[in-house]
Amino acid sequence: MKGNSTSKVIGIESYRLVGQSNNAPVDITSLAIKLQQTLEITPLLQTFCHEAAKLIPCDSVKYTNEQTQLNYQTGQSRAHLCRYLLELEDETLGEIECTRNTPFSIKETEQIERLLSLLIYPLRNALLYQKAVAEAHRDPLTQINNRAAFDEALAREICSYKRHQATFSLMVIDIDHFKQVNDTYGHITGDNVLKAVAQTIRNTIRRSDEVFRYGGEEFVVILSNTEVAGARFIAERVRLEIKQLIIKNHEKIKVTASIGVSASNMASDVNDTLHHADIALYKAKEQGRNKVIVCP
Ligand code: GH3
Ligand code: MG
Ligand code: MG
Repeated sequence: MKGNSTSKVIGIESYRLVGQSNNAPVDITSLAIKLQQTLEITPLLQTFCHEAAKLIPCDSVKYTNEQTQLNYQTGQSRAHLCRYLLELEDETLGEIECTRNTPFSIKETEQIERLLSLLIYPLRNALLYQKAVAEAHRDPLTQINNRAAFDEALAREICSYKRHQATFSLMVIDIDHFKQVNDTYGHITGDNVLKAVAQTIRNTIRRSDEVFRYGGEEFVVILSNTEVAGARFIAERVRLEIKQLIIKNHEKIKVTASIGVSASNMASDVNDTLHHADIALYKAKEQGRNKVIVCP
């Protein structure tokens, strides 16, 4: 491969730092290559800490990124520390702190800085990758998880159920007569209603539960480790909160929702749990809407 990035690597190739802990030389090129082998933040930091420890003995290394709320730490924090704010082209990439019981020499901090300069581009790439993955899983209108995220989360729950019999429940929530809202108040107001309903569901369920926009005016909640009785209770609360919600337009808008509930241990095949919740939703619609129905 030709080009600037290749020549840069060649430039570093002959450079070797001599470790102080065991005098083992650290091959900078091999470290740079290792750091480029993953786009996942945690494995990237693990590799960095593991390789850096060969050069500079530390009791702990901590990475924090307030923007993305990422925290990673190895070892126990000690009294002496060196801390770096990682920046690239005015973009903050987080903060790294190394600690130990004895002070760091100037030579050591220079070595740490040199290692950090190898980390900075792979870290920026990993952060960009993480952001892209998060955006691919987010519904742009309501800012909650989308259907792609739901498919993955459901697959994880099914896997966990098969392995550990961890019962989960599903709630399928559909806004009643939502077409009328659009027809009466317009699409933009319809969008505002969707945002308000999504927020209401999110605020009503437990923090451990996840809400997804499944499509149009339909939402799904995954309730981990929850039997059907608990799911029915939460669904009833969600139904009531949506009913009490007032969306302020030039006049006050109110909506209701119908909810179908199903639990993984109620279907003979766990893969049918979503289908069963859907059947329950249709029954709720048939029975007059603004209702919670549990399947079967
Ligand atoms: P039901 O009680 O049977 O569920 O009736 P409904 O009117 O809610 O259901 P229907 O499927 O007839 O209509 C759903 C409407 O949701 C039609 C569609 O235009 C609207 N919709 C879907 N996605 C969006 C969106 O992103 N924004 C807005 N404003 N409307 C949307
Ligand atoms: Mg509807
Ligand atoms: Mg619908």
